[in-house]
Amino acid sequence: MIEDKLGELRERLATIHDINAANALLAWDQQTYMPEGAIADRAEGMATLSRIAHEMFTDAKTGNLLDNLKDHFDADSDERAIVRVARRSYDRATKLPAALVQDLTRTTTLAEPAWAEARAKSDWNLFAPHLEKIVELQRRVAEAYGYTTHPYDALLDEYEPGLTKRQIEIMFDELKGGIVPLVKAIAEQNAEDQTAPLHGNFDEAKQEQFGRDVITRFGYDWTRGRQDRTVHPFCINFGSSDVRITTRFDSTWLSPALFGTLHEAGHGMYEQGVDPKYRRTPLSGGTSMGIHESQSRLWENMVGRSRVFWQRFYPDLQELYPEQLTDVSLEDFYRAINEVRPSMIRVEADEVTYNLHVLLRFELETALLEGSLKVADVPAAWNAKMTEYLGITPTNDAEGALQDIHWAGGMFAYFPTYTIGNVLAVQLYEKAIETHPTIPDEIAEGEFANLYGWLRENIYQYGSKYEPNQLIERATGRTLDTAPYLRYLHEKFGELYNLN
Ligand code: ZN
Repeated sequence: MIEDKLGELRERLATIHDINAANALLAWDQQTYMPEGAIADRAEGMATLSRIAHEMFTDAKTGNLLDNLKDHFDADSDERAIVRVARRSYDRATKLPAALVQDLTRTTTLAEPAWAEARAKSDWNLFAPHLEKIVELQRRVAEAYGYTTHPYDALLDEYEPGLTKRQIEIMFDELKGGIVPLVKAIAEQNAEDQTAPLHGNFDEAKQEQFGRDVITRFGYDWTRGRQDRTVHPFCINFGSSDVRITTRFDSTWLSPALFGTLHEAGHGMYEQGVDPKYRRTPLSGGTSMGIHESQSRLWENMVGRSRVFWQRFYPDLQELYPEQLTDVSLEDFYRAINEVRPSMIRVEADEVTYNLHVLLRFELETALLEGSLKVADVPAAWNAKMTEYLGITPTNDAEGALQDIHWAGGMFAYFPTYTIGNVLAVQLYEKAIETHPTIPDEIAEGEFANLYGWLRENIYQYGSKYEPNQLIERATGRTLDTAPYLRYLHEKFGELYNLN
């Protein structure tokens, strides 16, 4: 009886998974190879597939099956996890009244072009009325989902199941105490910009060759993946057997393709590494945005911006670009890729200042939701926080409060996942080295099997079986912990900037 119900649920979810995967493939195609004339038909086709999947998933039959299967399986079983994850998505998909969903779609569809125009003209007033509406709708969404302590918790749950605003506040308090003084100490050095080696004329085909070579060694599986070019790099998958990444190349600047490729490969290896037994179930993908970002940041930063990595790979890069790099020492290159400099734009920020950009957004978001900050006052509040945390002040709103698309898209509570990723990347990397102390030496030899193996064993294979807190506790013995991250920043950048 229960076995029949479970089989029925599995089949239903597998069908929905297939429809969503087909839709994701259409989305990938749209970003990569679709002829531009196809856009209108493509939009219709994708909307149809979304609607069919949504109708099937939110059907009362799904709810009945989930009710029937509640509490029937062992606490640590896959079946229990499948029911839990499906229930969570089902509740979220059915709790919003249809009129609110429509209102949200209409509002963000109008807000995104308004935001783009506002940013181009650096005119907050063009975007403000849209943001007012979006904040109001976010409050209603939080009410519809329900929460016990703060509306932010209801929105955060979308990206980080089980995490609360309070936990994020504690994380940021600890980070602020460690990072703000570090940024000040580095700024007081008044060091000259050292990033010149990264700028010049760098043949794109060679950049591509180098990146592919490195991520192949990491463990990215090309029989279940591919790399293409897009304006904004991303990773997308249709199950663990087909996980694609994209990269952006700039022939005058090494960093975007180089670190972008390592970053997206980190996302990709996570998805490829999920246990095949979870295929076509709700457990088949990464468990949260923050955990996902920890995997991309680990390969990009812990590995790709480390000295040991470049001891092995810098000679290869020099060989590809003899004219540009022969006279640049390993030490100068290492310094260039780890330059710390407070800047206006989050996506261009270095490892030290990055999280202060996120903190600022988190504080403004919560104040907007609570109503203690008015939309009209956001630019002034933004600039004041930039001055306080980073010691620089935007001169216009394009390089201030209008720089990110997230709010226009209705993505409240998303920003903290970037910082959660940074913090967890170090916590996990430290634990991996504790288990295999030879990992740094192996990286210096271009060997990644132990690191990849540890991540696959402790993170990748589980997909969404465990919630973020639980997964991290199983892997490291602790929940989210800022201490390893702060220690890492102080050691690495203290040495680079002679602060000790
Ligand atoms: Zn990412």
